[in-house]
Amino acid sequence: MQFNDDTIVALATPPGPGAIGVIRLSGRDAIRMVNGIFSGKDLEAAAGHTLHFGRIVDHSMQPGAAAAEEVTVDEVVVSLFRAPRSYTGEDVIEISGHGSPYILQRIIEHCVRAGARLARPGEFTQRAFLNGKMDLAQAEAVADLIAADSRAAQEAALKQLRGGFSGDLKELREQLINFAALIELELDFSEEDVEFADREQFIRLIDHIGRNVQRLIDSFSLGNVVKNGVSVAIIGKPNAGKSTLLNALLNEERAIVSDIAGTTRDTIEEVLNIRGVLFRLIDTAGIREHAADEIEQIGVGRSYEKMRNADVVVYLFDATDTTPQEVLQQQQLFGSEGLKYILVANKMDHPAAGRAPFEGITPPVLFISAKEKQHTDTLKDALYDTIIAGKLNTDQTIITNARHHEALQKVAGCLEDIRRGMDNRLSGDLLAPDIRRCLYYLGEITGQVEVDRDILGTIFGKFCIGK
Ligand code: GDP
Repeated sequence: MQFNDDTIVALATPPGPGAIGVIRLSGRDAIRMVNGIFSGKDLEAAAGHTLHFGRIVDHSMQPGAAAAEEVTVDEVVVSLFRAPRSYTGEDVIEISGHGSPYILQRIIEHCVRAGARLARPGEFTQRAFLNGKMDLAQAEAVADLIAADSRAAQEAALKQLRGGFSGDLKELREQLINFAALIELELDFSEEDVEFADREQFIRLIDHIGRNVQRLIDSFSLGNVVKNGVSVAIIGKPNAGKSTLLNALLNEERAIVSDIAGTTRDTIEEVLNIRGVLFRLIDTAGIREHAADEIEQIGVGRSYEKMRNADVVVYLFDATDTTPQEVLQQQQLFGSEGLKYILVANKMDHPAAGRAPFEGITPPVLFISAKEKQHTDTLKDALYDTIIAGKLNTDQTIITNARHHEALQKVAGCLEDIRRGMDNRLSGDLLAPDIRRCLYYLGEITGQVEVDRDILGTIFGKFCIGK
């Protein structure tokens, strides 16, 4: 793999004014380059892990000046890290300046004039990976951590960054490698028809790895939810109280979400944070618009579409004018679609509303008043329990990354091939290619094998510049 250690520079803090802005450099000549524009101390003589107060200075000829004179660009603090004890594993300098975009831009210009190159997105983390400071799964966790917008997402990313997931995979891979070595040894002695590798033991190992891989694969549905939020569709007939409920739910817990460019009215979502997990209320535009003339029958058009796209459906009905038969009919539809759903009777504050008709239905109907905000918290708990239900509080690793999910599925496929081969008592030379493939896919997740440059490009291209 081609690898540069030329010196790169980028703004590491968000663009725009702030109290402090940080510019980061990494590479062979980072310290020398910054030393050339720094006045205060000789950075080249400084030890690693040290801080230095000084000025970034411009020695170039100023317009109208007779001779070159030293002009201060900013007063800064420079953090200095020496290879290999730095984020990237190279010499790293971080310049903390005053957070004016103009000043920061000028400091970057001076770094570039001194010979640094502007960094590509994720290039610092890519270098950290290539220098063995972290594996690929951990590097991906850095991006997830920056993007995390809920406690659950943050925890999952942090755990992956600390290497929990990588540790699990490395262990499985090592077990397989030991065995593969024995099988490969048999190939050298193929004339003699010997078996070094104990087949019974091998079957147990394959099954053990298979179970672990399957557990990781299964965790992806939860992981996806943790990372991207749970999509919730509130559906029901007009006047059931959907928009009232929406407002009641969002009242206190509306999460702060940034505008996503390109979203249309159709995909407008409101986001709710329930116990650290994001719940996305989908197609709220439809509710807000009130779709007055459009008879919102379930099973037709938009509602149907919306329902199918949701992780969980809230079926809201007006308890004053809905029959249990209607509710059961809906329930059947949800069942036949394999949907997760919650049945909610609204307007329980109304004198005409009674519990009795709906009491026999399972799963039990939730009784609320959206208008009076009665039991809307119970609905939030129900949403959380339907999807998460204690699954998050375990120490088990959760997969949140689609690339890992895909690779693990390939691993599972190879394991099945190996298992089938074992059942058919295939000889070592026929098992070996499947074992090698399996090792390859396992290694691809953490980057222990050479990973395709396109894949690396995709992974690191998603980072922000400066990370
Ligand atoms: P949507 O068409 O499903 O969005 O229904 P709305 O939220 O617009 O509500 C329809 C009507 O029902 C409005 O007049 C609401 O004030 C009323 N409504 C909604 N929720 C309740 C409730 O919990 N109790 C009572 N009594 N009226 C409600």
